[in-house]
Amino acid sequence: MSIATPKKKAAATRSVRAGLESDAQHGSVVPPIYLSTNFAFEKYGKPRKYDYTRSGNPTRDQLAGALADLEDGAGAVVTCTGLSAITVILATLPGGARVIAPHDCYGGTYRLLAALHAQGKLVVDFVDQGDAAALHKSLEAGAALVWIETPSNPLLRVVDIRAIADAGHAVKGLVVVDNTFLSPIWQQPLALGADMVMHSTTKYLNGHSDVVGGAVVSASKELHDNLAWWANAIGVTGAPFDSFMTLRGVRTLHARMRVHAENTALIVDFLSKQPAVARIHYPGLPDHPGHDIARRQQQSFGAMLSFELAGGEPAVEAFLAGLECFTLAESLGGVESLISHPTSMTHAGMEEAARLRAGIGVGLLRVSVGIEDPADLLADLAAGLERAARAAPAPHLRRHAS
Ligand SMILES: *Cc1c(COP(=O)(O)O)cnc(C)c1O
Repeated sequence: MSIATPKKKAAATRSVRAGLESDAQHGSVVPPIYLSTNFAFEKYGKPRKYDYTRSGNPTRDQLAGALADLEDGAGAVVTCTGLSAITVILATLPGGARVIAPHDCYGGTYRLLAALHAQGKLVVDFVDQGDAAALHKSLEAGAALVWIETPSNPLLRVVDIRAIADAGHAVKGLVVVDNTFLSPIWQQPLALGADMVMHSTTKYLNGHSDVVGGAVVSASKELHDNLAWWANAIGVTGAPFDSFMTLRGVRTLHARMRVHAENTALIVDFLSKQPAVARIHYPGLPDHPGHDIARRQQQSFGAMLSFELAGGEPAVEAFLAGLECFTLAESLGGVESLISHPTSMTHAGMEEAARLRAGIGVGLLRVSVGIEDPADLLADLAAGLERAARAAPAPHLRRHAS
């Protein structure tokens, strides 16, 4: 085999090296942070590349370059939160535009879209996009934008990006995918036909639960330029320090995702053998309704899962009390393992009937698997399940554990 230099280096190499050796002044290996809000003109009438940090900043541009590269897009807009990335996309739409969004999209996305709909600024139809007939019926009324989120929270439902993108394009809609749950390492929506990819970089891309941020990567330069104009006009561009931190996170993305995936496989295998666990929602399981699509369009089944404790609320309470390696908290995608209880946390605002219709029972727990030593994670879960079994009434347990 020849050892000719490949034309393009692998994504892992490119993300480690993003922005390295770019400092012409001192030759710092890691790029400096440009915190400055403003940049001097060279002379009268002659601005430099940057003039004001809201509009443009070298540190933020380095992160944008790395993200556009990872998603293989024409450009990335870096924003101060994931929600502001969504806001920028929606700001490009004309008043009264019709938006089709998933019925089970991220809660903050749902709240924003529902509020803009209530104000009459957009017409939003929340649809179960896994139901082809329902989606096509909604598309008959046209769509300026089709919003896709896959896998979804907390049941990890998976939808077919290619099929929905084609259907959206057939009615001349733009198609955007919220790719937060998988990161560009495990899913590349632009290659599947999407026009834009949105991220909450708060999650896997930064990966250390210490920066809130967002990004939109566009397939075309025209879309990107328009989004960049709006991000500056609204004033939601990301801070230089946050951008520096997030780029630092991106350097270890590949290595982190590898361990996230290894640990998740072990945990899913362990949980699937436990009588106290009534059900596991994970696209990697052959009986998960989205398994075949996930196989096709993802490079990994991900590091998010949810499972139902057979013993209901008493089991949940006992399970959570005494966990040592899973922090009871919202959010996801950090190096640390997190566990959340949708009924009392993320989905507490939802009415009980709606929650149950959505498949979110009181025994449901969602896990963001971290990169700790898997033996510690498994031992912690095993101890929790023992507590749950002791706390839950035995007949109840037996009835549901088959
Ligand atoms: C967290 C999250 C968001 C919102 O991002 P913020 O950074 O919290 O503003 C949007 N979509 C998904 C899937 C998320 O997990």
